[in-house]
Formats: sequence, structure tokens, C-alpha cells
Amino acid sequence: MSLEGLYQEIILDHYKAPRNRGSVENPDIDIFESNPLCGDEIRIQAKLDGRTIQDIRFEGKGCSISLASASMMTEALKGHAHDHAHKYIDGIKAMMHGEDKLNDEELGDMEALKGVADFPARVKCALLAWTTLEKALNDRAARKG
Ligand code: ZN
Repeated sequence: MSLEGLYQEIILDHYKAPRNRGSVENPDIDIFESNPLCGDEIRIQAKLDGRTIQDIRFEGKGCSISLASASMMTEALKGHAHDHAHKYIDGIKAMMHGEDKLNDEELGDMEALKGVADFPARVKCALLAWTTLEKALNDRAARKG
């Protein structure tokens, strides 16, 4: 299988069998965002324990790239600290500009999103979940002072 075919396969796998889909009870983060360019919609809920993202789930509709990316994001961040989340958010954003901030091991399945950088119209799809969570984390940090 070509690399492109393999990446396509990974994206479709997350799209068809999304990880951590659903809602969180008494969420500390509950945010909805859309990408009007493509019609993607996402709602992210998370339960925090201090600086740790104890649980994170999403609901959404839209294209395979936006939903696969959300699925990969929850998998990468669940059980990890905010700093880890910000590192990944920055890393994925950089990747969409062709910059390698995360290594292959850190990326895991997310390496499959690398090729999206070649399609500027789809970059917003791939980043929707990430920028939405970033906004929620930043709003929360600002509120807490
Ligand atoms: Zn999309």
C-alpha cells in the first residue's frame, strides 16, 4: 500500500470508528464550534482534574478529516496535562504549515494528517477540534486569572 493509501486508511478508520465519541458528565469544558467553509460542526466536552484532562469526548458532524482529527485529538490528550495539550495543539498547527515540531512517535496516527497541509482548503477541517479546545483552555485560564 502506498503511504498515501495508508494515511487515507487511518483517517477513515477514525472517521468510521471514532474514539471517545459522546459527552462527559458535569464537564468543566463544554464548547461548540463550526467551520462554515466545509460545514463541519464539533462539540468538545472535557473533565479536568487540576491541570490534567481526565476525560475528553466529542460529538460532531462533518467531513472525514475534521472528525478523524477530533478522534485522534481525544486519544492523544486524554489523561494528560494541559501543557501536553498545548504542545500538541502547537505541534499540529505547525504541521499544517509544513513544520515538524512533533516527531513520528509523538504523532502516532496523527501523522496521517500531514498530507492535509498540501490542501489549504482542508487545513481548517483538520484544525477545527484543536483550535476549539485551545480556545476553551485559554478562556478558562483567562477566567481563573
Ligand atoms: Zn471539513
